[in-house]
Amino acid sequence: PGGGLSLTREGGHHRNRIIHAGGDATGAEVQRALEVAIARDPAIHVVEHALVLDLLTGADGRAAGITLHVLGEGTPDGVGAVLARAVVLATGGMGQVYSATTNPAVSTGDGVALALRAGAVVTDLEFVQFHPTALWLGAGARGQQPLVSEAVRGEGAVLVDAAGKPFLQGVHELADLAPRDVVAKAILRVMQSEGLDHVWLDARRLGPDLLARRFPSILARCRQAGVDPVHEPIPVVPAAHYASGGVRTDLRGRTSVPGLYACGEVACTGVHGANRLASNSLLEGLVFAGRIGADLARDLPPRVEPVDEGLETGLVDPAGRDELARRMSVGAGVIRTDASLHQAAAALAGAATADVEPRPEAWDATNLHTVSTALVQAAIRREETRGSHWREDFPERDDARWRGHLLAALGTDGVLTETYQVAG
Ligand SMILES: Cc1cc2nc3c(=O)[nH]c(=O)nc-3n(C[C@H](O)[C@H](O)[C@H](O)COP(=O)(O)OP(=O)(O)OC[C@H]3O[C@@H](n4cnc5c(N)ncnc54)[C@H](O)[C@@H]3O)c2cc1C
Repeated sequence: PGGGLSLTREGGHHRNRIIHAGGDATGAEVQRALEVAIARDPAIHVVEHALVLDLLTGADGRAAGITLHVLGEGTPDGVGAVLARAVVLATGGMGQVYSATTNPAVSTGDGVALALRAGAVVTDLEFVQFHPTALWLGAGARGQQPLVSEAVRGEGAVLVDAAGKPFLQGVHELADLAPRDVVAKAILRVMQSEGLDHVWLDARRLGPDLLARRFPSILARCRQAGVDPVHEPIPVVPAAHYASGGVRTDLRGRTSVPGLYACGEVACTGVHGANRLASNSLLEGLVFAGRIGADLARDLPPRVEPVDEGLETGLVDPAGRDELARRMSVGAGVIRTDASLHQAAAALAGAATADVEPRPEAWDATNLHTVSTALVQAAIRREETRGSHWREDFPERDDARWRGHLLAALGTDGVLTETYQVAG
């Protein structure tokens, strides 16, 4: 109200450092401001409702544009191409790899899969952050689950078990505001020991006024699901939230393919390490998008003629997508073992690919399959527990063997290879 920035705190934070807007509608405000800025710039041509498929490259391997499928809605439906002197991937995360995620339906790992097919290096895919508190919508719930923001705990809500007992005191010095992996693991331990499919977040102490003023969207979403946080604890469960890994870039957003840049959740700049600190992703997007913009304004590469549309890998049948996501959640979710990961790998290897019609659902299923396969392969290899990669069979961090990155790339034969690089 006074014109200053409104700050709050989230998991792992020792002081209030998170700017927010509209109570809990910060993302909507970021998007609104971006849309206004884009509309004001006549040099930007927006193609809406288009699904980017693959990277076009020139004879020298440099990015030359993209292929895309325009999905109707006033524009001709069909596959086309956009030629470009540089391509910036900003396609977001890959939460839809799992059956429960806070990510929207569009988070299907398209940018990472495209980059792999284009021969780019991807890294750190095994580090998936699970948000501890997605709203539990029932045992059969699939896809995007509403997030009950950490800021609710920042304002004083506590996680409790079936008896209403708080369980994070003594687990970590920050208790309910401990880093996300610590909280997610603590929740899973309670769920396992008490035979529950969720725990509860008790926000009643915040009172009706603070809940309505600070968390109007969360309050409305909970009530829509039949839970009133003013009067009862909110059922919550961990869900896939953020991919710390992605297309490997340097500190200027450049990938290993000349002319191909990446920023935001699709990228792995390295700033999140093995476990992103809450709310650092929007900051990362802002910083690296700015750097890429400055780089391109200064040094836009010359135009090259496309000669190659990237690797043809065949399409995965979308009918099996839900089952693969379920197998990923069970085998490669918060808790992983060699056996569980191999079960997920076997399910992925058995995915149907014959006679699949090329349409958006098939491209989504194929991209999810590609990134899931790379993720599982890396998670199998990393025999230690570090950050958000939690191996039950290797519970300790092992710096002697694993203080470094697994880099994955698809060969021209379609085989995914992985190399280990010691951290510099
Ligand atoms: C519920 C929730 C709450 C969060 N809260 C916070 C927070 O408080 N602070 C914070 O820092 N981070 C937060 N995060 C994480 C953060 O929102 C994301 O990491 C960030 O929005 C990613 O931005 P992005 O621009 O990389 O991708 P997105 O914002 O996901 O945008 C990607 C865009 O690319 C489009 N796209 C994808 N594939 C294709 C394709 N093949 N063709 C064409 N277009 C495509 C998508 O439709 C989408 O419009 C939150 C995430 C979630 C899910």
